[in-house]
Amino acid sequence: MKIICIGRNYIEHAHELNNPVPSQPVFFMKPETALIRGRLPFFYPDFSRDVHYEVELVLKINKLGKHIQEKFAHTYYEHIGIGIDFTARDVQTICKQKGLPWEIAKAFDGSAPVSTFIHKEEFKDLYDINFALSKNDTVVQKGNSGMMIFNFEKIISYVSQFVTLKIGDLIFTGTPAGVGPVVSGDTLKATLEDQIMIHLPVK
Ligand code: ZN
Repeated sequence: MKIICIGRNYIEHAHELNNPVPSQPVFFMKPETALIRGRLPFFYPDFSRDVHYEVELVLKINKLGKHIQEKFAHTYYEHIGIGIDFTARDVQTICKQKGLPWEIAKAFDGSAPVSTFIHKEEFKDLYDINFALSKNDTVVQKGNSGMMIFNFEKIISYVSQFVTLKIGDLIFTGTPAGVGPVVSGDTLKATLEDQIMIHLPVK
């Protein structure tokens, strides 16, 4: 399986990193080895001094597809979860300055904790899903699927023009404003509506 991540999908977050608001989705990928599932901690990597959390809604692909039309895109996922796109911001900044790819800042081991998944029928409105991240019990990020620049259907359709989607692939759909650093000893909690989905100590 593969993990596809959408960048700059919330206007306020694009602004906070001084990025332009895109006219098409921006995406990048993480390998399967980036996943953290269950109750395992996040181990702070030794190549960075500025690892940031980015909380994101995550779609789980349930059907093989390429060149998916937007009007059919909703049939390609059934479950929604929440994940954290850990980013070595210092490393990413150097990559950007040099015009290099960001992989080492985004794709490292443990950079993608993911919750269990909830069937989409359990949400009242897929365009009004609330989610949040707290660090040491202080809320640091709050998002809502209705604030996304590119909605789930647009993302699935766009990505599948370039990359075939397979059963079990995950799509991180972008982070709202409020990204920031973690340090060893922090605890992150991600909530979907009012349910705690991720409880992650940073070691
Ligand atoms: Zn992200």
